Amino acid sequence: MGNKQAILLLSGGIDSTTLLAKLSNENYEVVAVSFHYGQKHGIELNYAKNNAEKYGVKKHHIIELDKTLFKSSALVNSEIDITTYKNNELPEGQVNAYVPFRNLLFISTALSLAETMKVNEVYLAFNSDDNANFWDCRTDFVEKLNAIATSNTSIQIKTPFINLSKTEIVKLARQLNVDLNNTITCYQPNEAIECGVCLSCVTKQKAIKNA
Ligand SMILES: [Zn+2]
Repeated sequence: MGNKQAILLLSGGIDSTTLLAKLSNENYEVVAVSFHYGQKHGIELNYAKNNAEKYGVKKHHIIELDKTLFKSSALVNSEIDITTYKNNELPEGQVNAYVPFRNLLFISTALSLAETMKVNEVYLAFNSDDNANFWDCRTDFVEKLNAIATSNTSIQIKTPFINLSKTEIVKLARQLNVDLNNTITCYQPNEAIECGVCLSCVTKQKAIKNA
């Protein structure tokens, strides 16, 4: 282990698992942070745990957030069905899987941990496919948060995949020998079986086909 240290938001999906593999490859000592927030795909935390262990993270924090914060989201509220895309046509604009200000909470939690642990780099695996449907994954959002972080502390938020498409991330995952079967993407899996028709599943299938 070198002395480069990073906090990484780890979900159990392809993007953050690939980023974990990349940081591990670059000899970072990684502290992973995952969240339980009442998500329908809570099983993702099992994948996050497996990969945290596989890549030997220094510490894996799983932080509990109150799901009543996110009741308007189909990703959390069992009374709202997640929109599906059976014709593989992807939507434009905000989707009902958006979780209100979730990423601000996630990132500020990671920043708190970074300052507490004296770690100066916080890594997020946002990619250019997220940009289309989630405003809180965009460059503009990250830059504004970074302005706050860097003008008051020595912590920087880093998003090395923000200009990469999901297809490019799958290519990188293959180069880094990431076991994609040990990741989960679906917004509404049945146990570990992905639905195949939610936005996340459709985006993943396209990426794997094109990579
Ligand atoms: Zn799905």
